[in-house]
This record gives sequence, C-alpha cells and structure tokens, in this order.
Amino acid sequence: MVREVRVGSVLNRHRKRDPWFLDDYSVNPYSGCSFNCLYCYTRGSKYGEDMEGGLSAKVNAPEVLERQLARRARRGEYGFVALSTSTEPYQRIEEKTGLTRRILEVILQYRFPVHVLTKSTLVLRDLDLLREIDRRAILPEDLREKPGRGVIINFSLSTLDRKLARILEPGAPEPEERLKTMERCKQEGLFTGISFIPVLPFLSDSEEKLDEMIKTAKNYGADFVFVGALTLFGKGPSACKTLYYKFLETHYPELVPEYKRLYRIFWAPSREYQRELEEKTKKLTQKYGVKNRIL
Ligand code: SF4
Repeated sequence: MVREVRVGSVLNRHRKRDPWFLDDYSVNPYSGCSFNCLYCYTRGSKYGEDMEGGLSAKVNAPEVLERQLARRARRGEYGFVALSTSTEPYQRIEEKTGLTRRILEVILQYRFPVHVLTKSTLVLRDLDLLREIDRRAILPEDLREKPGRGVIINFSLSTLDRKLARILEPGAPEPEERLKTMERCKQEGLFTGISFIPVLPFLSDSEEKLDEMIKTAKNYGADFVFVGALTLFGKGPSACKTLYYKFLETHYPELVPEYKRLYRIFWAPSREYQRELEEKTKKLTQKYGVKNRIL
C-alpha cells in the first residue's frame, strides 16, 4: 500500500549548480522507492530495509510545483530540474498515479529544462512531453551553447551482469532493458547517456569490465557516459553499508577484507582508487569516442 502525502514544497533549489548533472533544482514525486537497490544512498531509518514498504506519493506535487515554478519563471530563474535525486520518478506506482507525467506537464508549461535520472522503461510513455520540453525549454544563458538541449535523459546502471543486477537492484528493469530504452530515446532525437554509478569495487570496476560497459553504452547510442564509485553510508540495520556488507558476506565473502581496506576511513573509497577509476574512464571514453561529461 502506497501512502499518500501532501507537501508544502516540492521544488528544491540547490545552492550551487551540480557540475556533472547541471541541475539547479530537483523534484522528488515520491519518498522511498520500489526498485529497492541495496546500495541506494537514501536508505536508512527513514525508509527501512524495504524501501517499497516505506513508499509514499506526494499527491499534490504537480499543483505545488506549478506555484513554485511560476514564481521562478517570473523572475527568469531558469535552470535544469533534476527528476529525481532521491527516488525513481518512473517506479511501478507511477503507472497508476501519473505524478511524474503531470510534473513534466508543469515543467513544459513554464519552459524549464529537465534532467531525467532513471532506471526504468516507463520513461518511454512520456516521450511526447520530453520532445516538446526539449524544443521549448528556456536554458540559463551559460548553458545555451552547451549542452544547448532542454532535456537530458540519464540511465543508471551499476553492472551489465543480469544476475548481479537482480540481487542488487531487485525491483529495477534488467540492464539490457535500460540500454534498449536509452537507444529508443536516442532514436527519438533526445540527448541521452548512461551513469555507471555506482561501479562496484572488484565486481564491475576492472579495466576489462569498464571497457565492456563503455563500449556497450556507445553501441546503444549514448551521448555521454559517467562513471562513479560506490559510496557506503550508515550504521543502522537498514543502512546501505550494512546491507551491502551482508550481500558481500553471502555472495563474495572473500571480498569483505578488500572492502574494509578500501572503505577504512570514509564512506567513499580511497582517493587513490578514485583517481585510478577516473583515469581508466578517461582512457576508455576516449577509446570509444564518447564524452565522459556533458559539458
Ligand atoms: S532506483 Fe535510485 S532511488 Fe530507487 S532504490 Fe535504486 S538507487 Fe535508490
């Protein structure tokens, strides 16, 4: 059962534009997420171990957004709206509620650009609106030349391995379905790419695996590929760090000491690891002629 909640505000304005995703704003139509990814950074006491169980729909989000975007548009404060940063905008319940679709209608009405972040095939339902937003959005002056597009669609994958994805992202469509959905968006003339975020240390981060991932993304038509390391937060029973270590103990016990070493100090892997990952990504994106950032 999805809880219905009413909110007073739904548009978050960032203090600073995200240099990778280019969003100045974000909107989350839901709290919690039925895709239930083990590594999701929003996990924790707020949603519990089962994020689907804690799912709620912000039923008045489109009306509230209309008020908030109207005000921003009057002041000419245009900027990319990320949809979404702490939930999946196209999770299963969206088929019934249509909240994300109504939010896109408001975004179109006020001519804001949008960056859709998803793992879902359901985004195809809204191609009509996305094409129209891409055509009509007003971009902030410094983004008019590059990317010069009103819509960015970004598909997230952590691995191409179906079995591994089924364990780690139990509610999400399979990696291949996401790639095919991206291909379709590209065929529709939309600007689209892949975020391999998070890549999983010792499981999907080898040069060989990254080569395969970036080559595959390119073959499916990605305009860009982002690569980012796994982060592990929290201590409680439903925190992503706790659940991820449980997964390792069950499926890859030999990797537990390696992870403990890598995440010894911080919630992110060591600087050295991150630098190496960045270098490998740069080399491989150059090899396949795909951009490793949007700008
Ligand atoms: S799809 Fe995104 S928001 Fe949903 S559980 Fe997975 S990582 Fe979290």
